[in-house]
Parts: sequence; structure tokens; C-alpha cells
Amino acid sequence: MYNTLKNIFGFQSFRPNQEAIVRSILNRQDVFAAMPTGGGKSLCYQLPAKILSGTTLVVSPLISLMKDQVDAALENGISAALLNSSLSSQEASAVYHKLFRGALDLLYVAPERLAMDHFVEKLHQVHLSLFAIDEAHCISEWGHDFRPDYLSLSILPQRFPQIPIAAFTATATEQVQQDIIHKLGLRNPLIIRASFNRGNLFYQVDRKKKGNTQIIDFLKEYGGQAGIIYRATRDSVEQTAKFLSSKGFLALPYHAGLPIEVRQKNQEAFNRDEVEVIVATIAFGMGIDKSNVRFVVHMDLPKNIENYYQETGRAGRDGSPAHCRLFFSAGDILKQKYFLEQMTNEQEKGIANEKLKKMIRFATHYICRRRQLLKYFSEIYPQEKCDSCDVCLANLEKTDATKEAQIFLSAVVRTQQKYGIGHIIDIVTGAKTKRISQLRHNRIKTYAKGEYKSKDYWRFLVDEMLVQNLIEQDGGRYPILCLTSKGVDTLYKGNTFLLIRREMVTSKVSQEESCDEILFQKLRHLRKEIAQEQGVPPFIIFSDKTLREISSKYPQTLSEVEKIGGIGKVKLEQYGDDLVRLVREYQQERAPLESEVKEVKEEKQEENSQQSKINKNPRLNKTYELFQQGLSLEEIAEQSNLLTATISGHIEMLIQEGWDIDMDRLVPPEKCKEIIEFFQKQEGWFLSPVVEYFGGRVDYDEAKFVRGYLKALDKK
Ligand code: ADP
Ligand code: MG
Repeated sequence: MYNTLKNIFGFQSFRPNQEAIVRSILNRQDVFAAMPTGGGKSLCYQLPAKILSGTTLVVSPLISLMKDQVDAALENGISAALLNSSLSSQEASAVYHKLFRGALDLLYVAPERLAMDHFVEKLHQVHLSLFAIDEAHCISEWGHDFRPDYLSLSILPQRFPQIPIAAFTATATEQVQQDIIHKLGLRNPLIIRASFNRGNLFYQVDRKKKGNTQIIDFLKEYGGQAGIIYRATRDSVEQTAKFLSSKGFLALPYHAGLPIEVRQKNQEAFNRDEVEVIVATIAFGMGIDKSNVRFVVHMDLPKNIENYYQETGRAGRDGSPAHCRLFFSAGDILKQKYFLEQMTNEQEKGIANEKLKKMIRFATHYICRRRQLLKYFSEIYPQEKCDSCDVCLANLEKTDATKEAQIFLSAVVRTQQKYGIGHIIDIVTGAKTKRISQLRHNRIKTYAKGEYKSKDYWRFLVDEMLVQNLIEQDGGRYPILCLTSKGVDTLYKGNTFLLIRREMVTSKVSQEESCDEILFQKLRHLRKEIAQEQGVPPFIIFSDKTLREISSKYPQTLSEVEKIGGIGKVKLEQYGDDLVRLVREYQQERAPLESEVKEVKEEKQEENSQQSKINKNPRLNKTYELFQQGLSLEEIAEQSNLLTATISGHIEMLIQEGWDIDMDRLVPPEKCKEIIEFFQKQEGWFLSPVVEYFGGRVDYDEAKFVRGYLKALDKK
């Protein structure tokens, strides 16, 4: 178990609950596991799938999720495939072929397939190890993503009584848990309810100021890293996306009003790190497995805490620090109330109203955000302070503002509690508006009594009085202010009113994991190149956490790279060299002399280890043999159960190490010459400039082989 964890996944230790779940599956016991997003559920079934003999069938609701999961498994050297409606019949029969040969550790299927009799019949001919049900809450009407197709899973225990079932969900409620266990017919399952605390997320709530300056300042802190901005409406999504683009940020919109192709394209671009920000309504949801989302911003108040928790949960799946920031205004609250008023079912309206109140409390009360969130899911946060939210970190400055509060409240009362915020502020600051003179509000006693403070000050005071419940805003389109009993006490009895100012907390998050930012950016660039070559999203190649670790440890040899979290045997073999090269080049740029000496020494060692590595590596040997037998790269990949890109990596290494490989079979001689010329002109060994230069005439593999050839000749 531990070996597989290290060699396949590249992790040193299990995350909470993973080990118990894996053990239970290996003992053929059913499992129900509720773990938060990013808790590491996939590993809980992928690891046993690798160890157990037979195929693990994974049920997963979304085609896009399936594909990413399969790609990620393949990258780790687990033989995986998927069956869904997106495959051609040829592709599907290739998958069946592998399945019947027992060549698959993992097979992902959509739930509707289990409703098809002929598929279930076929499964009886397969040696199965486990049924893993991902996003298992989809089987429950009480969950937020009910899918009738999931109900067909209830046949599993009768039809396959010998095969254990493991169900996974990130939904926290007990009701959904009971429903899942019952509907799936789990037999005496191990039940895991993980803490829903997301320790790596930093929560921060702020008042929304006019204009979009806050969001720009925030994005600048993140220097092009990926994040999601949620907005309440389609229009505001479009506006914000446009605004950000006009300021030079790479941002795309996502909402249900866009054609499906556009939505898919934008999501894909985000997944592949081609844009930094996706601006979205809550329609942007379950299909996102991207692990390197560094921030989730809400620019409007969400309508309840469940949504807020799910949406912020998309940040920091990789376990690295991530920032959840909420901006809201009193206007947001009114808007939400206005939406509520439109609901026709009284009961639903009541429930929604209660939920909204809790959301408002979350945003406005100075109580640890984390404690509040967990409490909502009936979990008690054990510490006094979490030290990872704005409330716990804030320096509070309290000033007695009883006099100012009285001036304002008096103006509200003297105008019969019939006006809104803006007008009352005009009165106390002595504004000379038409409306004031028409209404003769310049004659009331408190007119201009607050001239000595700015408008901004009064706005802030009003917000605070709303939060501390001295005044209330009446709903409707033109909300008016009225006093609460607490407000009455301050106005007439002189009860103290304290204005609480919080010092802004900034950049707490990005500082947490310190590493070499320049190297990190270079690594991100390399990751993107590799991902483009492989046709998968970058986060599948390496997580941000892995890149950060490299940027703080500067691994200079393959054995040092191997110790980095998230790099298993296959990734080491595939990308280890690229990483070492990049780190070395970087070190060299920074300290030319020092590392040159070191380099010479290491070159020697490395040479020896490379050679022996090849001799010892059975896969490379196999690739070599098959190649010599005249098979194409695709055929070798098929036979070895590896990606074609892996095979071409093997070949490059073989060429580089001087094995007898017929270059003409790989790259036409004329082309080869051109590529050599280009490489000799260009700096470094990156492939995409080559491919770009030849405008599609040369593909990545061809460039790779020539690179290996040149290195073998040491011609550059
Ligand atoms: P979930 O499905 O629970 O939301 P995932 O399975 O997608 O979470 O895992 C989230 C991230 O955590 C992935 O990037 C994964 O590689 C990483 N991860 C999982 N288990 C571990 C572990 N034991 N150590 C380090 N990282 C892990
Ligand atoms: Mg998952």
C-alpha cells in the first residue's frame, strides 16, 4: 500500500481517512465516505484498483470529469479507460477489448450504462475488483445534483453480490448520507465522515466599494495564477469579464446564457491555464476538477451558505494555500431579498429566507468565518481562533461614535423614517440638493450637523449601524431606513455605539508557502508546454504544490526529483529530465560560475546513472525491442498500455543514449536537417518554438527525436 502510494502517486503519506478507506476496500468491505472537495477521494479507489487483481469500475456523472480522471491515471501509469457516449464505436470496441483481456485497472463509465442490460451482462464476463461510485450524492433527491440515472446503480448488490462497493461524496448532510447508503444497498459499510474544514483556505469578507478597483488590486496580488470570480447575474458576469479584459487580464465569461460550445471552450481554456480568470455565475460547477485554483472571489453576496461553501471549495484542491474572498454591499442584501419576494411557494420562500439570514450573518458578524461555516454543517471547530480568516487576523480599532450615530438617527426620525441612506447622508452633511430644498429638509435641526465628517465616513457609519443592528433597511426597490429598538436606545438613552474599523488583511495567503517565484513561473511555463504536447490540462501533469516544492528545493538530479511530492515513477521517467534541466539552467543563469563546477561533476554521475537506468528499465527495453520489430509508436503504446507520448519519450532517450535507432523511420531526412538547423539557432531545448516555427509541418514527436539526436551528438 505504501509502496504504491509512493511509486504510483508520488505521495509520502496518506491524507486523513484515506488509509482506513483503502484498507477497508482491500478487505472487500463496502465503504461510504463523505469527504470535502480536495480531500483526495480519487486516490481511495485508484490505489486499491492498482493493487487488486481485476478491474475497478468507476461510476462518474460527467464526461469532462471522466476524461480528466482517466488522463491523470494514465499519467501515473495506471491503465485506465472510459466508456461513454462521446466514444466512436471503434474506440468503444477497443476499450471492450482491453476490458475482456483484463488489461484495465480502472474503467470509468457513466451511470446510464448500468441501466443497459447488455452492458451488465458483459460485466459478468469480466473479473471485477470494485465498484467505486463517485459523486454518490447524485443518487439522492435531497442532494444538490440529483440524477435519475444514478438510481440504476441499486441493482449492483444483487447482480454482483461478491463485489464490494465504495461510495464517495462531498455533500455533508446526514440526510443525503442515509439516502446513499440505503439506495446503493451498502452492506455493513465502513462509514467515514471527514471534517469539512478546509485548512488551506483563507476566508476574507469585505465591503464592496464603488467601481471595480478592489478586484483589480486583488488580481494583481496573484500574478496570473488561476481563479474563479462568481457573480450573481449573467449581465454582471459579462460586464466584469469585459472590464478585466480591458485591463489586460486574461478573463473569460461562463454562464448558462452562453451557447454550450462557448461554455465548453471557456472552461477548457481555464482548465488548460490559457486564461487566468473565469468569471461565472453559479452555473460553473461540478465539472471542475482543476486542482490549482488559487482563489475564488464572490463579487456579490451568495444566497446561502451551502452554495458559498461549494463554490469556495473549488479553490485549493491540491492542498496549497488558496484565498476565498467575498465582497458584498448592503445593496446585495436588498437584491437577494427582492429575488426572494418573487418566489411564489410560501414554504420555499420561508426556507430560502432563513438561509439568506444565515448567509448575511456569516458576512456581517465578526465571528471566525471558519467556525461559522463549520457550525452550519453541525461541526464544532475546536480552536478558539483559526488564524486563517480576516476576523481572526484583524486588528480591530474601536472608536466611540455615539454622537455621530445620534446625529444620523435623529435625521432619520425627524424625516419620519421615510427616506433611504443617500438622502439622510445628504441631510447630515448639509448638501444643497434640489430634493432637500423641495422637501425643506434643510430646515430640520440636524441639517449639516455632520458637516465635519466626509461622506465616506457617513457611509461607513451607516454600514456599521446596519451590521450592529441599530437601523434596518426596508426591502423594495427604494429601501428606506428605520430604527430598531437598539437604535432607539442609542438615540434617546445615549447607549454607547462603537465604530469598529478593521485593518485590511492582505497577501496573507501567497506568503504562506515561500518559494522561488521566478523559478515557479518557469516551471508553470514548462508544465503548460508539456500539457499541450500531451493534450491534457496542466494540473494533470503536476500540481502547483509539486511545482512549489521544486521551486524551494532546487532538485538537481533525478534522485532528488524523485523525492518531490506528487512525482511517482512514471512521471519521473517522463519528465524528470526536463525538470532537472530547467532547474539547472535556472541555477546557472543565477550563479554561473558556482554551478558550472558542480555541473561538471554531476554530468559525470548522471551519465553513469542514465546508462544504468536504461539498462535496468524493462519498459525502455521493451519499447526498443518492439520498435526494432517494426511497430509504429501507436502500436507500441497499445501493446505496452502506455501513452504514445511516453513511448516517444522512451525513443528520445534511446536515441540520446546512442542506441541503434533508425532516425529515417521517425523523421524524413530532409525535415530532420531543417529541424537541426532550427535547434542550432535557438536557445534551449523547448519543443513548442520548433512546432510553432514550422507551422504544423513538424509535430512534437519529430522535434523530440531530433532533440535526442542532437544531444547524442552533443552538437549544441
Ligand atoms: P476530491 O475528489 O476529494 O475532491 P481529488 O481526488 O481530486 O479530491 O484530490 C485532490 C488533490 O489532492 C489532487 O491533486 C490529488 O493529487 C491530491 N492528493 C490526493 N491524495 C493525496 C495525498 N495523500 N498526498 C498529497 N496529495 C494528495
Ligand atoms: Mg473527486
